[in-house]
Amino acid sequence: MRTLARAASMQSQALSWRRSGHKIALVPTMGSLHAGHASLITRARKAVGPKGQVVVSIFINPTQFSPTEDLASYPRSERSDITLCKRRGANALFLPRLDEIYPDTNNVPFSTYVTEERLSQSMEGQSRPIHFRGVATVVSILLNIVQPTHAVFGEKDFQQATIVRKLIRDLKFPTRLVVSPTIREPDGLAMSSRNTYLTRRQRPHANILWRCINTARKAVRSRTTALTAPMLKRKLTRMIESTPEAELDYIEFFNPNTLIPLRRIQRSDRIALAVRFGKTRLIDNGKL
Ligand code: AMP
Repeated sequence: MRTLARAASMQSQALSWRRSGHKIALVPTMGSLHAGHASLITRARKAVGPKGQVVVSIFINPTQFSPTEDLASYPRSERSDITLCKRRGANALFLPRLDEIYPDTNNVPFSTYVTEERLSQSMEGQSRPIHFRGVATVVSILLNIVQPTHAVFGEKDFQQATIVRKLIRDLKFPTRLVVSPTIREPDGLAMSSRNTYLTRRQRPHANILWRCINTARKAVRSRTTALTAPMLKRKLTRMIESTPEAELDYIEFFNPNTLIPLRRIQRSDRIALAVRFGKTRLIDNGKL
């Protein structure tokens, strides 16, 4: 496995792979890799085949964090990340420094951003106003550097994956989006680099998001008459309020294509929620 730190070297390697007919799959991450990320690398290999090139990028992207968020404390584990990528058969690891992604040009700081203006309005976009501008910008930069035929994202961040799909279509990147299922701990908690922030007292309660998803799913599947979102939200809010240390940020029922919040819920819709445990903010989502 090659490790590349320079954007120019990564891009010329990628262009040379493309000229010689290789497929390239990009797995963008912020590091602190776990089994969820590992499953994306396996999915990337499946997408491009044994002769394709699988590139994992690790970059903690400051532009998607607001000043009050956890950029400074975001977990880092470069050594074990490198081992995981090697073991999963990645061909290259792109580990750029900040100024490789956001360089000054002729003494002028980085100043070009990408904003998706519709799908970014609800849920995470409402709770984290500059988040998706940062995501759309860094993803566009990474797609230009790595020139992937396939980009693999996790369903864990469903809104993000939906926005990236729209970005790829709107800006005409020659890349196919692959969305890979959420990997969970045995108790249902979605794996996340941020789970390491949970205290020993909080951890047993952290699967409340998964329990809410299942409760909503059961309610929707067992009822023949349509359910309304406010009814279900009240029920799930009570579940969260009775969970020690848990504090609800949002629960939303939405159409998976438009991400528009709904009142009347159908089985083809999805639920997403965000819950805080102290300073740790967890998100999850699922099909109903
Ligand atoms: P992150 O490092 O948290 O920015 O995530 C990098 C990629 O891994 C994103 O596409 C996430 O959706 C995906 N991901 C994170 N957690 C999981 C998980 N538990 N299962 C599957 N994919 C995940």
